[in-house]
Parts: sequence; structure tokens; C-alpha cells
Amino acid sequence: MIKLIDITKKFGNHAVLNNINLHIKEGEFFVLIGPSGSGKTTLLKTINKMETPDSGKIFINNQDISDIKGTVLRRRIGYVIQSIGLLPHMSVKDNILIVPKLLKTDKRIAESRALELLNLVELPPETYKNKFPHQLSGGEAQRVGIARALAADPPIVLMDEPFGALDPITKSRLQNQICRIHKALKKTIVFVTHDIDEAIKIGQKIAIIKDGNIIQTDEPQNILSHPRNSFVATFLGSDRALKKLSKLYVKDYKKNAECVFENELSNDIQTNKKYVWVIDINNILKGWIYLSENGSQYTQIDYETFALNDEETLKDAVSKMIVQSVKTLPVCDKKGQLTGEISLTDIVVKT
Ligand code: ADP
Ligand code: MG
Repeated sequence: MIKLIDITKKFGNHAVLNNINLHIKEGEFFVLIGPSGSGKTTLLKTINKMETPDSGKIFINNQDISDIKGTVLRRRIGYVIQSIGLLPHMSVKDNILIVPKLLKTDKRIAESRALELLNLVELPPETYKNKFPHQLSGGEAQRVGIARALAADPPIVLMDEPFGALDPITKSRLQNQICRIHKALKKTIVFVTHDIDEAIKIGQKIAIIKDGNIIQTDEPQNILSHPRNSFVATFLGSDRALKKLSKLYVKDYKKNAECVFENELSNDIQTNKKYVWVIDINNILKGWIYLSENGSQYTQIDYETFALNDEETLKDAVSKMIVQSVKTLPVCDKKGQLTGEISLTDIVVKT
């Protein structure tokens, strides 16, 4: 979808981009991460021709963008920046309609899409469409910025540290929202950040840039497992093993769990395990039974607070183990039916 081939850029004598080669696939959530001054913004701007490389080529859908006029290209690519850039004298709705108007989109279609987009970014149109930028919080304004970038339905959206200035709670909410929007609308997103936790949380592919050089490009879990050099390892942080757990899911690591029926507890339990899970006749998890030479002990539990579900991460699993002071946790489906178990040993050995 987007191919950068041998892109170089100098400002005066200062080489800001050195032989950058990147291939961003259609529909990918691609994150470019690096320290301040590493060339992220410059690289992003070469994609929509706000900067022109000194050498190299950029292709979008196999078309060389040097053959496309910058203004035309930019109307087909959404762009979101940290300072948002909403026009202060225009209402929220009119800000969103700027590009559709330039593109002479049918007014009724554009307006109904603007309202849809406000719903998509969770700003109810009745409340927000006639507000002015000074009446919005930072997080609300940023969401209007996202709606505006999507207004002309561009296949590509570039985002330059869009959540950098937001408080942690708003930031996390907007990260979830942009992941949801990416899934729903199937856009190709190129997202710039210097926040490694953000990159790992939202990126399907991450490229790490330092002093204008791409150091490593891969899926987040691969970068966390195999940082190419000490710069990447330091950049990922000493807790990179824990970060990796946030990208791995319970459903991929659970194994079969031994269990007995609650109404058969009085029978002899044949197992070489120290404990087995207890279920009712509908397979709903009821507790566990601890077996020892001196007899057994049945502990009842509430699956909603105790069990894991498939969609939780291994980080959630370890955290729950610590909270509950156990080394193994059951995995249940939404109804509470036992589907497996996961142990700390599995997590340590298999990841
Ligand atoms: P990042 O977004 O990673 O913080 P930038 O791409 O903004 O980095 O900048 C990379 C380097 O290029 C910095 O050293 C910056 O000072 C320099 N730079 C960026 N834009 C210009 C410009 N228009 N003129 C001169 N130097 C620039
Ligand atoms: Mg920047």
C-alpha cells in the first residue's frame, strides 16, 4: 500500500532521514516510534508531500507520489496532529466538513457522514455538533480531530503523536477508540509516537527509528522477544518481558484442566494432581478441591472474579495470580463453563 524506497532528507548539513525503506500494508496499524528529534514527523510528512525527500521514492498503491499534486494527495490522506488544529471560529460540524467541502462532496451525504463520525468517536452529535473548539476538553477536541481526518473517507490516516498531550486516562480511552475505529473502518494507519507502551498496545507493526535510521521493523511481540541491539532493548525498557505478556492471550496458552463434578465429590478422586477443579452438571466452575494424604478440602469460588477468559492477556493472568496468591487459574467462557487452565510455569516456560 505505502512503500518508501531509499528515502533520504537533509536540512542543511543535517541528515534527518537516511535511506529509509518501509513497506506498510493495506489495512495495517503501523507505528513509527523513536526519541524526539529522530525524524518521525519528517518521515510522516514525506508520505503526504508536506516534505519532499532529497532522494528516494514513495509509492502509494503502486503510484509514485511525485506524480501527484501535494494538495490533491493530502485530500486523500487523513492527518491528525497533537495540536489538533481545529479552526476556532468554526463549529465542530463545520470543522469536520472542511475537506468534504473542498472535494465538493454532496452536502447531504457529507453532513450525515459527519454526524456518523461524531457517533463513531463517541461524541453524541446533538450535544457536540454546534459547539466551538474552545468549549471542548483536550480529549474531545482530539476526537473531533480524528473525525475530521476521517471525513473524506481516506484510505490512509497519518497520526503524529495525537495523544501526546492527554492525561493517562483519556489517552488510554482514545487508544482503545482508535483501535476500534481501525478495525471497523479498515483504514491504513501510520501512527507516530515516542511512547513505547502506546506503540506496543496499538501497533500491529512497529518501526523503531533513531537518528534518521530505521533500526528494527517487526510485530511488537517479536521486537520484545528479539530486540536487534542494545538501543532497542534499552528503549523497550527493563520490563520488556512483562510488556510482552500484554500481547499474548490466554486462549493461546491455556491447557486442559482436570475437573470433577460437584455431586461426585464424595467418591474417590483418581488423579495424581494436588488439586482438581469442581464443576456442576452444566460444566459451570464451582471451585477446586485440594487433595492430600490427610484428606481433601473443597474451596468454593465465584468464576466471575476468579477465572480468566480467553480474551484476557497473560499480563492479566499474572496479575490475577498475584492478587489471588495462586500459581494456576481456571479459564471459563462467558457462562462460567470451565474451558481450561493456565499456570505460572506455562507462562514462564512457554513465552
Ligand atoms: P521527531 O518528530 O522525531 O521529533 P522531526 O522529524 O521533527 O523529529 O525532526 C528531526 C530533526 O530534523 C530534528 O533535529 C529537527 O530539529 C530537524 N528539523 C525538522 N524540521 C526541520 C526544518 N523544517 N528545518 C530544519 N530542521 C528541521
Ligand atoms: Mg515529531
